[in-house]
Amino acid sequence: MTNRVQELYLSVMARNSSAEGIWRRCRRDATAARLFAAALKGPVESRILLVSPAELFPQLAVSSDGLHLPFMSRGLPYLSHGFESIRRGMAALLYQHGVDPLAVQRRRRALQVTESLKEATEGDARDRLVMAGLQTIRINAPLRELVLGDEPISRPRLREAVKDYSGINCSPIEAAFQDFLPFPRGRRQRKAVGGVARSLDDLLGSFQIEPLKANLVCMSAAHFQKVLRMRGVSQADWRRLLFELTYRQLLIPSSLLYFWCTRCPEAGFVASFTPAYFADSPLCPLCGRVAQAMCTFAPAGYLREAMKLKDGMLGVAVGWFLRKHGFQFKHGLTIGGTELDFIVSGRRGCLLIECKMHHILKPEEHIRSQILASRTQLRTHIHVAQREGLQPKGAACVVNLGSHPLQKTLRRLKAETDLAYQELRAEVISYEDFADWFQRASAATRTDSKPKPIS
Ligand SMILES: [Zn+2]
Repeated sequence: MTNRVQELYLSVMARNSSAEGIWRRCRRDATAARLFAAALKGPVESRILLVSPAELFPQLAVSSDGLHLPFMSRGLPYLSHGFESIRRGMAALLYQHGVDPLAVQRRRRALQVTESLKEATEGDARDRLVMAGLQTIRINAPLRELVLGDEPISRPRLREAVKDYSGINCSPIEAAFQDFLPFPRGRRQRKAVGGVARSLDDLLGSFQIEPLKANLVCMSAAHFQKVLRMRGVSQADWRRLLFELTYRQLLIPSSLLYFWCTRCPEAGFVASFTPAYFADSPLCPLCGRVAQAMCTFAPAGYLREAMKLKDGMLGVAVGWFLRKHGFQFKHGLTIGGTELDFIVSGRRGCLLIECKMHHILKPEEHIRSQILASRTQLRTHIHVAQREGLQPKGAACVVNLGSHPLQKTLRRLKAETDLAYQELRAEVISYEDFADWFQRASAATRTDSKPKPIS
């Protein structure tokens, strides 16, 4: 091997080590083998797992008090009830929370205090206040336990921890006040700083962290409903897949389990780490009846690895299909300055296979331009392969769109007029049609199709 070829070979190996690792795993792990086979042909698995991670876990935004706050989707949702019922239950509880006169008053007071502080002090003064706050937490064991503990910080737990503040050493905060405002420049500043000190409870109470976090989980679930609708997957089917993947530990919790009772709004949101949610629905702590519950999950293990790869699940699934059926191929080979996803070798030439994960939630014209780009890339790759003497006998770009929506869009595109493209009968095809296409293409090119036994 010359140095240059060796370098090229090593760089390809490095880039594809993860895909190779997953295929090797499939050979010895029946669960992994089944999963990646189902990703291509399972009616539910393929429709969910072949959605791009950018659309499964997008950046979302929440609007609150005139602020537009972006956040990352919390993950794939588990919902104890239908989404509409969960959404109504959440909304009722958040409303109750918002109209509770005490909560509203506390929130308003705290907001006034922080607003006046913002007006009265400089940015670095705020930083120093926060640092002093952290220092205070560090030297006070009850506060430290509260912050480091796993349970959510709630007002009752704070009250319980600090009692009447007599045992709490507040000197860092006091020092910070004196430090950064040795001579308060005016009554307004003195008042503002004093307000913060007096309103620590109001401030902590006003954060209402748990309802906010529960709302983010609910909004992540709302986004996922769009994916289910677009892919034609029912709630029941999704739940079955979710149970299967969590059972295999390929999905792990990415949020607390939030539950609430529609009959007892005064109980508010309960957050729990209990992983046994699927065995029994959580019960309302007040009335003991079945509560509404939700949480989210994130991919783990080799599922996560596969999703992170460039061609994502689609590339891994296509590669596993080829391996499983004993076909020889090169993956991710850079030729003539461009990277070819799969080159399947046969006795009379080869087949070129590209894999593209498109966005499925975008408007029609966006999807059309993605398909057009895929077709253009396939055409380019055919020319490169011919120029480099690979003698392709067939070529396809496999995309993660369903057969029906893809055909619908393709019919609206002008046919590709490139001669080489036409002669090879190259196509952009749906993952749903990949197995059929491959059977036809490999038979026509006499690709070595003697299946090897799978160990
Ligand atoms: Zn209840």
